[in-house]
Amino acid sequence: MSLIGGQNTARILTINGGSSSIKFALFEIGEVPRRLLHGQIERIGLPEAFFHVEGEHGFAGPVNAPEHFSAVNLLMDWIAEKGLLKTLTAVGHRVVHGGPTYGESQLITPAMIAQLRQLCLFDPEHLPEEILLTEAVKARFPDLPQVACFDTAFHHTLPRVAQLLPLPRRYELKGVRRYGFHGLSYAYLVEELARCAGEKEALGRLVLAHLGNGASLAAVHKGKSIDTSMSCTPTAGIPMSTRTGDLDPGLVWYLMRTEGLDAKGFNELVTFQSGLLGLSETSSDMRDLLQREADDVRAAEAIAIFCYQVKKWIGGFAAALGGIDTLVFSGGIGENSPPIRSRICEGLNFLGLELDESLNAGNAPIISTKTSLATARVMHTDEERMIATSVCRVLGITTRSEYEKKTAFH
Ligand code: ADP
Repeated sequence: MSLIGGQNTARILTINGGSSSIKFALFEIGEVPRRLLHGQIERIGLPEAFFHVEGEHGFAGPVNAPEHFSAVNLLMDWIAEKGLLKTLTAVGHRVVHGGPTYGESQLITPAMIAQLRQLCLFDPEHLPEEILLTEAVKARFPDLPQVACFDTAFHHTLPRVAQLLPLPRRYELKGVRRYGFHGLSYAYLVEELARCAGEKEALGRLVLAHLGNGASLAAVHKGKSIDTSMSCTPTAGIPMSTRTGDLDPGLVWYLMRTEGLDAKGFNELVTFQSGLLGLSETSSDMRDLLQREADDVRAAEAIAIFCYQVKKWIGGFAAALGGIDTLVFSGGIGENSPPIRSRICEGLNFLGLELDESLNAGNAPIISTKTSLATARVMHTDEERMIATSVCRVLGITTRSEYEKKTAFH
């Protein structure tokens, strides 16, 4: 495999297949992975499907993508047409669920695909499409190594007490337990924290809050996940853009009895119609709700419930960790919304956490006061870069900075 410090430079394509989009990026492995371009095919399945690329070969235009298979073939055509294939070293895929088996990124093999098919029951909305993407790449470019980077892998270190769900034990044998998600984001944040704040802080008691459309928190100690708010599926935990988060399990029976809701209808309700959208009745987007909250009590309550639940999880994780050294806000809401961060942190002084509102208003990297015992940070997460880094590790490709670190004493 090409090695930095030798003659060649590796290029990694990352692919992140969502339910209606395929995001991708191309990295060149130099000092650190450098993003040459990124883009996405969005609104797959709709007449308005759209393909755009930023960076090298920038481009934007409507496309015909009635389903994922045709969308990924459009991407492959584009890669071939731009002459990128001959420079590609490998493809890294974000894979939402690795089940109990996959605790780290691995080369994709037919045996892995067979196992992932079994896991589709846990995530019928993302995993089948992700498998299809790996197969489409293999069909077109059979010699290109492909690596699966699992969103659950970071949480493989959960202790039994956080992992086991209070159901009859036979369900654990079927793989029903807490897995947790957003693992690529959390792994990136921990590594980035070590880089920018030093090992000591990165190895401390961390609460990481990835607050985007999908949102979760993780409690991390000594670099390892010890608990997380999402569970066997990404519907659990805090309320999200359209997902409920945790809910009274007794409601399943109630809704079946009173509304004749079936399993599919229940999933539709708790996954696509609830959270910020269900509560506000207008939008799943936090920016919209913040604009409306002064005049619309439903928007104000949706925001208040979101902030209250995030605060409760921070408190719970502080108890699990025995205190907090660092709280990290990330994701679209966490990185960009001072009022939400401020409301979440209100009243958390008892944990030694005190926000500096002017730093918070400016989205500064550190938003806690100088005297705050715990540090609150705003960090941009980069799951694509984590995929590229993971692919390098699996294939034994050394970045220039790692190469220099390794050879510095020889
Ligand atoms: P995804 O989980 O789909 O990757 P993002 O991480 O981009 O989503 O997060 C999307 C969320 O971030 C939306 O609710 C959006 O309103 C919110 N967001 C983005 N910018 C801001 C902002 N300036 N203020 C408040 N919310 C924001």
